[in-house]
Amino acid sequence: MSVSEKSSPERRTLDQKMGQLSAVMMPLIEIGAMGFATYVFLYSLCIDYLLSPSPDYRSRGISPRRGTAIALMSIYCLLVLIVLLTWLRMLQVIWTNPGIIPLGHPDSEKQDVSWMGMEKYDAFISDYEGNPQWCDKCHNWKPDRAHHCRELNRCVRRMDHYCPWAGGIISEGTHKFFIQFLFYGALYTTFSWIPIAIFLAERIRVMGSKPGVWIAMLPLCGIFMIFAVTMFFMTFWNQSINYTTIETLQRGGVHNIAMLATRRDPNTQSPRRNSLSHNSREKPNVLREVIRSDGREYVVFQTQPFVNPWDLGSMENLRTIMGNSILQWFLPFQMSPCINHDDVKGQYGWSREVLDMARDWERDHPDRRITLLSNTRRGRRRSS
Ligand SMILES: [Zn+2]
Repeated sequence: MSVSEKSSPERRTLDQKMGQLSAVMMPLIEIGAMGFATYVFLYSLCIDYLLSPSPDYRSRGISPRRGTAIALMSIYCLLVLIVLLTWLRMLQVIWTNPGIIPLGHPDSEKQDVSWMGMEKYDAFISDYEGNPQWCDKCHNWKPDRAHHCRELNRCVRRMDHYCPWAGGIISEGTHKFFIQFLFYGALYTTFSWIPIAIFLAERIRVMGSKPGVWIAMLPLCGIFMIFAVTMFFMTFWNQSINYTTIETLQRGGVHNIAMLATRRDPNTQSPRRNSLSHNSREKPNVLREVIRSDGREYVVFQTQPFVNPWDLGSMENLRTIMGNSILQWFLPFQMSPCINHDDVKGQYGWSREVLDMARDWERDHPDRRITLLSNTRRGRRRSS
């Protein structure tokens, strides 16, 4: 539990106000910096220096370079446009539906609250008793991978982090647009300073002048470029291994997973034992078996440390956020596939290690079956 999760209601209100204020101030600073960069790049460099240099420039041998000016202006405008488009799309989802979990009644305790539809899943992240995880501050259940955000004072689905620079929460709904924003932001900030540096060197050489606004552009773009490039590679790498930033910080821990189990029809055969692969693996760590009041039976497994239960392989991990086509990867329109939680197997896909764990248990319990495995096999048959 983080420090913020132990804090008082007053402290939480203060965190919330500070978070909301910073999510307004930081974007305003960025918009101001973009405005300044646009003035210097488009007007001072492209129009005033390259497209139609003043008589003073011409008398020093600086002639118009219309082709260069138009090419630079076109690329700059295109990059600004795509940066703004991805940013606005991200803000739209931040303000409308980033994946915020509804608040429960302040007096409700977990034994009184229904599972918020989580009973439909074959498997979910659970506590030691086999219940979904509970948030004391929201008074509601936490879906898999949800985390309580102190700035919003709410649980958010697949929360990555709260980013004042982007203008709000990075979660399952906004992660894709955040990655695109960083990618195009990295291209934009890199492109903005290189022509300035080249023509600044020319001006110093030919005219001996050192315009302050051109010089100011270099550290300004440089700082934002380092920030955007670093964040892009970090975020993209985390997504390729299917970890959010929060999960990366918690890496190494174990996960409790409750899996629905049913009694096997005595007439059906249990899966054939593959002694080689079975015996070569450790026995699954089962914390307990639970029978709920409605008769549903759950087996609560615990993963080994460092096992990522959501790792589906690099490409599939990226597809769950970025989309299933190249257009979806680069254009900020369609939402990520992972916001769809209709699959009864789980709220997100389960890794091979999780399925192996269930398979090993099933082989030791020939009279029982884990519904996650039956539905996985059925899904494969349907897709083949
Ligand atoms: Zn919460």
